[in-house]
Amino acid sequence: MFEYQAPDNLLQDKIILVTGAGDGIGRAAALTYAAHGATVILVGKTTEKLEAVYDEIEASGAPQPAIVPLNLETATEHDYIDLTNILEQEFGRIDGILHNASVLGMRTSLENYDPITWNQVMQVNVNAPFILTQNLLPLLHRSERASIIFTSSGVGRTGRAYWGAYSVSKFATEGMMQVLADELENTSNIRANCINPGATRTQMRAYAYPAENPETVAAPAEIMPVYLYLMGDESAEINGKSLDAQSKR
Ligand code: NDP
Repeated sequence: MFEYQAPDNLLQDKIILVTGAGDGIGRAAALTYAAHGATVILVGKTTEKLEAVYDEIEASGAPQPAIVPLNLETATEHDYIDLTNILEQEFGRIDGILHNASVLGMRTSLENYDPITWNQVMQVNVNAPFILTQNLLPLLHRSERASIIFTSSGVGRTGRAYWGAYSVSKFATEGMMQVLADELENTSNIRANCINPGATRTQMRAYAYPAENPETVAAPAEIMPVYLYLMGDESAEINGKSLDAQSKR
């Protein structure tokens, strides 16, 4: 596991947006960021799940979060402009984005891959993080130190049979992060990096590996050290890297 002991106030006064914050790894990251002092903007598809995370954060006494229901598959340019305007009015800036939401798509050969599903996967996993980042960069530029984290995968570094659009989308994610990081290098207070979570006990993992005993893989809360490290200022010099949540630093 990536080793990092975050101070309790690591993210104090930071405003951090998390996509897919209602479930799985995104939910754990939202709770963890809030517990370390951040005001978390909870973005996701299912409002009830976001509300449950909201309630949990509020009950813990952490800074009051905000909820923005947004379907990344169907969102229009207007939705992104509305989101940006709301955040500008409410907060004036943001200090971080965790691009976490993704869909798995089909587990089949490219020969048999349904093109509609292909587009859905690319929309949620690649196009949405691009458009969201583009819209929010002006608010990130107003931060003293901002961090953008993309979510990769082992199949985003080495292609694997039957992982289809998901694998290709994760290669694209690594590429988008590298292009952005290079653009931000030396010219800005913003950095961009990737996290590969590794096998983690979520619905997506259960869907991809139905025969696996879930207890044999890490719980989302266990992989949070690298999520804290890359979001906090102690990693301010790290830009353009792809880190593994579950291997040694
Ligand atoms: P889950 O399927 O458990 O959670 C995915 C989250 O993304 C949910 O909150 C879901 O919201 C949200 N989401 C999905 N589609 C949309 C959409 N159209 N609009 C908005 N939000 C959406 O996945 P994990 O927590 O396992 O995965 C998190 C990230 O980690 C992903 O990027 C995944 O690729 C990556 N990853 C995970 C691994 C693992 O073993 N779990 C391994 C390697 C990478 P809702 O519940 O409302 O649908």
